Amino acid sequence: MEFEDLKKFLEARGIEHHLDTSIKPYLTMAVGGNVGMIVVIERYSHLKELLIYLHNHSGRYPFLLLGGGSNVIFPDEYSRLVVIINQTSDIARGEDHILRVNSGVLISDLMEWNIRNNIGGMDFLAGIPGTVGGAAAVNAGAFGQSISAILEKAEIVTRDGEVKMVDNRYFRFTYRNSIFKYGKEVILNIFLKYSDMESAAVKEAIEEKLIYRKENHPCSSHRSAGCFFKNPIINGKKTSAGQLIEQLGFKGMIFKRLRISKDHANFVINSGGASFEDIKALENQVVGRAFQERGIKLEREVIYISPEGKKY
Ligand SMILES: Cc1cc2nc3c(=O)[nH]c(=O)nc-3n(C[C@H](O)[C@H](O)[C@H](O)COP(=O)(O)OP(=O)(O)OC[C@H]3O[C@@H](n4cnc5c(N)ncnc54)[C@H](O)[C@@H]3O)c2cc1C
Repeated sequence: MEFEDLKKFLEARGIEHHLDTSIKPYLTMAVGGNVGMIVVIERYSHLKELLIYLHNHSGRYPFLLLGGGSNVIFPDEYSRLVVIINQTSDIARGEDHILRVNSGVLISDLMEWNIRNNIGGMDFLAGIPGTVGGAAAVNAGAFGQSISAILEKAEIVTRDGEVKMVDNRYFRFTYRNSIFKYGKEVILNIFLKYSDMESAAVKEAIEEKLIYRKENHPCSSHRSAGCFFKNPIINGKKTSAGQLIEQLGFKGMIFKRLRISKDHANFVINSGGASFEDIKALENQVVGRAFQERGIKLEREVIYISPEGKKY
C-alpha cells in the first residue's frame, strides 16, 4: 500500500493520522478535496522526527505543513499529499526577554499565556486566527505592526532535512510575506522579543484589540481565509483593497457558492459547498475589473495549493 511504511512509523509513535480524508475541516475557508494522508502532530519531538523521516524518504511522500489553515485553499481534486497539521504547544521564557514558542501554538493560546505570565508587546496579534508558525511564515500583523518586528530568531528544518537556528534576516520579511510562505522549509520554534507588563495591562491591551476586531470585522466568524487580496501600493502609498473592491461594486455580491462580505469587501466567504474553481473564477472577475477600471493590479494574499503540493 502507498503509505504503508509511513503508517508504521506513525503507529509506532502513537501519532494521529487519517488516510484519504477531506482537508476541509482543517481549513477556515473549508475549500478543498481529499488528501492522501493527514497527520496531526502535538509534540515537538514528533514533528522533528517526522520531518527528518520524510526528508530521508525524499520524494516518496510529498508533504506540506499547515498550522491553523486560516490562509490556504486546496484544489477540489484528490491530491496524494501528506498534510501535517501542526499542533505543537509549548511556550517557555528564555533569557534577555525572549520567549521560545513552538510553531504550532495558536495565537489565541499565546495571548492567554501572556496574560498569565506578564508578557507585553504582542497584543497586536490578538484575534488573528492560526498558529505562530503560520503567522511567521506569512508575516501576519494588524494595527500597523507585523510579527517580523518582534521575531528574533527561529529553529527550522531546511529543504535538506537539517535542523538549524536562523535569524530574522533569514526570513526576508516583506509585507505579508517571507521565504517560508511559498517555500518548503519548516519552522519548529520561534523566538519572540517581549517587554515586562502587569497582567491586568496585558489583558486590557488584548481585549481592546479583540473588541476592535469584533466591531470592525463582524464577518470574522464566517468561513473565509481572511483578507483575500493584499492592500495595493498606489503612488508609493498602501491603499485599502477592501475599499477598492467596494468602489468597484462587489461588496455583498453573491457569486456561485461564495459571497463577498457586506461588512468588509476584502473577505470572500464560503456560503456552503464552494469549490476551488468558484474561487478562481471570482478572483479573475475582481482582478480583471480592478485593472480595467482603475489600472490597479490586485495581488492575492491567500495561498493556493496545487494537487502536487506547490504553494502559489
Ligand atoms: C477571520 C480571519 C481574520 C484574519 N485576520 C488577519 C489579520 O488581521 N492579519 C493577518 O496578517 N492575517 C489575518 N488572517 C490570515 C491568517 O489568519 C494569518 O495569515 C495566519 O497567521 C495564518 O496562520 P495559520 O497557522 O493559519 O497558517 P496556515 O494557513 O496553516 O499556513 C499559511 C502558510 O504558512 C505556512 N506555514 C504554516 N506553519 C508553518 C511552519 N511552522 N513553518 C513553515 N511554514 C508554515 C503554510 O505552509 C502556508 O504556506 C485572518 C484570517 C481569517 C480567517
